[in-house]
Amino acid sequence: MMKLDLDTATRGDLWQQVVGEMERYHDQISEVRVAPVLDIGSIRDRLSAFDFERGMPPSEAVCFAVNGMWRDQVHTPHPRYFGLFNPAPTSMGIAGDALVAAFNPQIAAWSHSPFASEVERHLILALGRRFGYPGDAIDGVFASGGAEANHTAVLCALTHASPRFAREGVRAMASSPLLYVSALSHDSVLKAARLCGLGTDAVRIVAVDSRLRLAPETVGAAMERDRAAGNAPIMLVATAGSTSAGVIDDIAGLGAIARRHGAWFHVDAAWGGMAALLPELYSLLDGIGQADSITFDAHKSLSTPMGAGIFLTRHPDILEHTFRVNADYMPRDGASQAGNMIDPFAHSMQWSRRFTGLKLFLSLAVAGWEGYAGALRHQVAMGERLCRQARADGWKVVNDTPLPLALLTDGGGVDAAAVAQAVVASGEAWVSSVRLPSGAAAIRACITNYRTQPADVDALIASLGRARAALGSASGGAQRTRA
Ligand SMILES: *Cc1c(COP(=O)(O)O)cnc(C)c1O
Repeated sequence: MMKLDLDTATRGDLWQQVVGEMERYHDQISEVRVAPVLDIGSIRDRLSAFDFERGMPPSEAVCFAVNGMWRDQVHTPHPRYFGLFNPAPTSMGIAGDALVAAFNPQIAAWSHSPFASEVERHLILALGRRFGYPGDAIDGVFASGGAEANHTAVLCALTHASPRFAREGVRAMASSPLLYVSALSHDSVLKAARLCGLGTDAVRIVAVDSRLRLAPETVGAAMERDRAAGNAPIMLVATAGSTSAGVIDDIAGLGAIARRHGAWFHVDAAWGGMAALLPELYSLLDGIGQADSITFDAHKSLSTPMGAGIFLTRHPDILEHTFRVNADYMPRDGASQAGNMIDPFAHSMQWSRRFTGLKLFLSLAVAGWEGYAGALRHQVAMGERLCRQARADGWKVVNDTPLPLALLTDGGGVDAAAVAQAVVASGEAWVSSVRLPSGAAAIRACITNYRTQPADVDALIASLGRARAALGSASGGAQRTRA
């Protein structure tokens, strides 16, 4: 009978097998299709063999899982995955996650995991400073991702709007609280509004201007109208790097509007926060240091494995007021420590949780800010190449951002969504399509991978060209050749 704890020899073989498989994935990933041929029946068939009545040898179980992931997933670490901000994970990040699984620190009570808690605090302070927060007023918490960080922000905004919110909930609000977001903001804010008991009707989705940015005057006017009608604008969310278009809102301008209305100002920089690591792009984030809170995802532009979102705030008390509840069974031995020891469970919507910060700590310790700047600069350069090659091949770039995300349309009327689908089906690359405010579709291609090279970008352009030609001739349109 197999046991939960394997014997020394079997364990040694297991670790070797796992490491070997991770190396093979790293080395051979660019040789496979980026996206799988979707086939739910075959996956369920293979799984149906597992009734768990009897155990199996570890090596067979690992083989089954490895083959499943090779075969049935979009390979987001693939250099020709031009997708949804999902990176190739850093080597140190993978090592960090593996070590965390083994040591399994419990980050709820500080005194259970003082090292892990202090590593995360140290990272929060370092990141806060990168975003221009004053050194003596930085707080924050690691989250599962940007969605949880945005949810945390909405809860902080409510707590900030009324000190009674923590006990009375939205019933504490004299007038209807409203949140303001751009039409291109991430829908996790809508979800957060629902989860906070506000409901999605409390979110004012404000139209973007011709550059796909939220215009401060438009938001200001909406807030004034709503206030005159007896509502309470409590929060304004600027997006730094919109998910669909990569565009960065006018952060300073929106911050001024939020302050004028006494609304909590949150900057969702889940992906676009990368600009804070590049001196040449930093000015894109002008004003972010004045934001009440910031969302940033280490598992996007900092390329850690999944599950590393970050919430930052310049209000050192707000997380405590938002999340602290008294729990008798939680250990209090940390109270003997001098200084501002923080129990992570009192700063987060999670309780027992993983040591999320280690994968970032190890990545940053080894690469340094310089190493990250180099990787991000490379991605920006690949984005520029993508735009250049796309234009040369007759595509129009319809978004305006220095970040490496291009929205492409075809002047000749071939449907962009169909082109994106054909590219994905070919297995040669992965791109998606988005709907522009005009109603037209655009191909969305984003450099999310520090390993993407010029040849990968060129391969994407070629693949897009083939798909367009096939669709163009199928619909009787003129076939084009490369300019
Ligand atoms: C990805 C993204 C989110 C959600 O983050 P998750 O890490 O997927 O939870 C929120 N906001 C923006 C702008 C994003 O790009």
